[in-house]
Order: sequence, then C-alpha cells, then structure tokens
Amino acid sequence: MSAGERPFAKLLVLDLDETLIHARDRDAPPLPWPPQRQVARYGVHLRPGVREFMATVLERFVGVGIWTSASTEYATAMLERIVDRRRLRFIFARDRCAQIWDADGEQTYWRKDIRELDGFGFDPQGILVVDDKPRGLERSRANLVPVRPFRGDPDDLELWRLRQYLEQLGPLEDVRAVDKRCWWAQFEDDVDVDLDLES
Ligand SMILES: [Mg+2]
Repeated sequence: MSAGERPFAKLLVLDLDETLIHARDRDAPPLPWPPQRQVARYGVHLRPGVREFMATVLERFVGVGIWTSASTEYATAMLERIVDRRRLRFIFARDRCAQIWDADGEQTYWRKDIRELDGFGFDPQGILVVDDKPRGLERSRANLVPVRPFRGDPDDLELWRLRQYLEQLGPLEDVRAVDKRCWWAQFEDDVDVDLDLES
C-alpha cells in the first residue's frame, strides 16, 4: 500500500489455529520442521509471513479481530509476539462459538455466528471472516474467506496470497457478492514464477 491510502471500512476477522499458526501438542508426533516457539505444552509453528500479514491488515482495515474456538488464555498466549493485542478490536474465544452436534459424523464442531459481531458497528456486507474450517461459518458462508489449513510447512505461501486477495475484497461495497471459493487459484501462477526466479 502507498502511504496515506485510506483503510477499508470493513471488519476483518481471523481464525487462529491452522489459519495463523499451527500449535502442536508435545504428545503429537513431531513434524520435520522445528517449531519457532514453545508455549506451555505446545510447539508453535508460525504461518510464514504471519507478523507481516498482521501488520499489513491492521493498516488496511479499520477493524481487525481474532475469533477462535479455543480458550481466551490460549489465544492470548499464542498471539504474543505476533501482534500487539491492543490494536485488535477483540479476541473472541470459545464462549463466542456454539458447539453443534453433527449426527452424521458423530462429532461436534464449533459454529461462529456473525451476529456475535453486531456490537462493532459493521454491516454484514462489510465483514470478512478468514477460517480454515468452512463449516463453522455455515450460517454466513458469503462472509467466509476460506484458507487451506496450515500444518507447519515452512514453504506455505497462503498468507502472502491472502494479503493480495484482501486488496481485491476491501474496496467492494458488499463482500458477500463475490464467490470466494478457491480464491487462491488466481495467485498460484504468480507465486510459482517468483519461486522459479529465486532458485
Ligand atoms: Mg482453524
């Protein structure tokens, strides 16, 4: 972005696990890559570019919040050194999600209902929710920006692509009007070219 460019008058909501980080319990089989941090019983892998991503979106959107189905304590600990918490509009945790029983899969999942965001003064047409689990946004699919889950791969490029994609969504009058499924496909060629040049 160039200096002085006005931020998008929209609310950007970001999931935490497998979207911004991958936290691996010490009892889980180790990955081929070492974690960057240790937080309690978790080895924490930061999604490549996550700090730059957070810094950028905080400049580009008037509101940025975190919404996780984990606990507030967990989220706060994980976000340390990724983002200055005071710059976030909110950190929503499990108590802002609804636990839903999926009878077919015989398991529960967490639903994020964007009506929880009503108090922040944004119309649904100006709310974007980035999440690796589309199902949680089943009530507001049109607000969802799906990402592919991050599981520690240091070559992951999703956040670099997402930064570019958000520049497309930001100016829209109604973010819900655009089909956001498989949005990353439009950036894959560019990224491959960049990688080829580096090698
Ligand atoms: Mg997630």
